[in-house]
Amino acid sequence: MLERKNLEKAYEPGNIEKKWYDFWLSRGYFTPVIDPGRPPFVIVMPPPNVTGELHVGHALTMTVEDVLIRWHRMLGEPTLWVPGTDHSGIAVQVLVEKDLAREGLTREQVGRDEFLRRAWERAIRSRKAIEQQQQLIGASCDWSRDTFTLDEGPSRAVRTAFVRLYRKGLIYRGERMVNWCPRCQTALSDLEVEHKESAGHLYHFQYPFAEGDGSVTIATTRPETCYGDTAVAVNPTDERYRGSVGRTVILPVSGRAIPLIADEAVDPAFGTGALKITPCHDPTDLEIADRHGLPHVDVFNADGSMNTHALGCEGLSREACRGHVVREFEEKGLLVGISPYSHMVGHCGRCS
Ligand SMILES: [Zn+2]
Repeated sequence: MLERKNLEKAYEPGNIEKKWYDFWLSRGYFTPVIDPGRPPFVIVMPPPNVTGELHVGHALTMTVEDVLIRWHRMLGEPTLWVPGTDHSGIAVQVLVEKDLAREGLTREQVGRDEFLRRAWERAIRSRKAIEQQQQLIGASCDWSRDTFTLDEGPSRAVRTAFVRLYRKGLIYRGERMVNWCPRCQTALSDLEVEHKESAGHLYHFQYPFAEGDGSVTIATTRPETCYGDTAVAVNPTDERYRGSVGRTVILPVSGRAIPLIADEAVDPAFGTGALKITPCHDPTDLEIADRHGLPHVDVFNADGSMNTHALGCEGLSREACRGHVVREFEEKGLLVGISPYSHMVGHCGRCS
């Protein structure tokens, strides 16, 4: 005789899903049987970062991957979905630094061992939470192959790939302009830079001609970078500067002689139409400088303070140096004016 059972009024996933997930696991259904006679179907899960818990976007991509995996498994193919998590080292570092800041501490104060202990603790906690979420959603991945990107296998694979590329001459070290965070002390990808509107100023300065007959006026939002100028550029069609291209001007803060050049990248409508060229601190300036064979002068230390090229400002913050430069132009009678100017300034996405 059939046993009478009352159905729940609403679907209770807690009573159903765990039972079936445990059943699938206990039968080893997610671990493929290798069959050399059949082509396998494999997805390597893009490993989530161990910086917190998964969000609904992860649920979406996991569902799509799971549908593909289950379809191929039902076709009888050897099917493997490799699960894993990514160390995302610097992102974890920033989180640990925020934890420390709440206790009034810095990474330097606690030292390397304690810092690493805290980083691992966070990573392991996050990894556990992520795997629980993946199992709750029913992801049919092969947990016997669960991988962390700092495990010996993946670490060795990365080293091997880099050594191969190096031996083929495809890896080299060169000087490039990068996004640099003075606090993180690391380069950032373009995706990690947040551009924020910032209320600043546009400073108009005169650079005198070397012969002493007049000057050319440039506009800048960052006076402290004047120490890195290696030219002043104007648009070749700009009538105002027709007779001046090819002459030499003197950089007032350092006394260095720099050429006045013509380049089509200069927008004649911006400021006075004369652009100071600072190859190390602006991508457009770098392109112009390289077209004209101009030298590169980097004026910043890795922590954002001024280096030895900033005569008299070495070791100062860029803000302090900015004040110094503006005063110097003013004292020499070469400050034309300062106007309010709002512009987009890149910020470190890891710090904010
Ligand atoms: Zn940063």
